[in-house]
Amino acid sequence: MSKGRFGMHGGQYIPEILMEAVHELEDAYFTLKDEPEFQADLQNLLNNYAGRPSPLYYAEKMTRDLGGAKIYLKREDLNHTGSHKINNVLGQALLARGMGKRRLIAETGAGQHGVATATAAALMDMECEIFMGAEDMKRQALNVYRMRLLGAKVTAVESGTASLKDAVNYALGEWVRTISDTHYVIGSVVGPHPFPVMVRDFQAVISAETKKQILEAEGRLPDAVLACVGGGSNCIGAFYHFISEPQVRLIGCEGAGKGTDRFDTAATITTGSPGIFHGMKTYFCQDEFGQIAPVYSIAAGLDYPGVGPEHAYLYETKRAEYVAVTDEQAVEAFEYLSVTEGIIPAIESSHAVAYARLLAPRMQKDEIMVVNLSGRGDKDCAAIARYRGEDLVE
Ligand SMILES: *Cc1c(COP(=O)(O)O)cnc(C)c1O
Repeated sequence: MSKGRFGMHGGQYIPEILMEAVHELEDAYFTLKDEPEFQADLQNLLNNYAGRPSPLYYAEKMTRDLGGAKIYLKREDLNHTGSHKINNVLGQALLARGMGKRRLIAETGAGQHGVATATAAALMDMECEIFMGAEDMKRQALNVYRMRLLGAKVTAVESGTASLKDAVNYALGEWVRTISDTHYVIGSVVGPHPFPVMVRDFQAVISAETKKQILEAEGRLPDAVLACVGGGSNCIGAFYHFISEPQVRLIGCEGAGKGTDRFDTAATITTGSPGIFHGMKTYFCQDEFGQIAPVYSIAAGLDYPGVGPEHAYLYETKRAEYVAVTDEQAVEAFEYLSVTEGIIPAIESSHAVAYARLLAPRMQKDEIMVVNLSGRGDKDCAAIARYRGEDLVE
């Protein structure tokens, strides 16, 4: 496959002015990534700072209750900062340091990626600036506080709809203006090459560990691996080392929002079509004129109008399946896992749990399913309470 392409998807659809930055990053990444010292530094941070390897937990009560496949949960929710995002951010921060950069920038919607980037910057003694839509800053005041506490500067983006997509545009521009000392940390498997490949490599630790853990526990590979899909980084991380094992079903769970028959959805593969935006060719939610459509999901982390180009390829080649899960199903799964296993999942991850509840009873008792729990749900409690009609005051 040609450079940075997944079938016809991926690529580098960027203005001339960004080429220099992207090429510099490409050179640095493909040089540094295999150096033993870089790998040793990354492994050390993943193990001793982020808390890896994360457990692969046999959810016995859930398995018994659903009466079908044996269910294992990959516990990315136990990582430092509460999700899989730290895997990628530590990798990119080390890379930036290796490139001689002293400043990290990132954009964030709900604030999770901003907090993870600010964390890595604090750890590595780098400057950090996070761009956030002005509207999002109001909605996510607690995460804005966290980022500032970690030493980051948080800058409001007022252009466009003052949300995530505008913050991405602003961050790309800022990267060009400050390229000599700055690295732009993209938070998912999206954007121009090499980001989709690089972020996938950093998240592939999830499936590398899962494969080893399931072989130890069961002596064989799982029959299905499930994960939620926003941009698709936790999902591709959970899939990666199983892609070449055709007997393993790979299932990505998109945020359907209020339903795929309406406009209030973020189910990109289910409802979208191929297009070009944010430097890549892939599936996007678009209107009839090909403009990027406003998307909606109860899960802020799934609320992105595109999906990583590798997912577009896995979908078109039928190696992976993509299903749409509604807000209501996700909220029910959020409550279900909490009371059944004593684990409060992120509302994003709850989309995968919801589909596991549908699929497990249709599988045999000797079959095995792995569900990637991308994050923990403490951050979501107030919003879910509100969804259920209860206003929490802290
Ligand atoms: C950001 C986030 C996601 C969505 O991002 P992906 O790149 O699709 O993984 C999912 N779960 C959690 C907990 C997140 O914070």
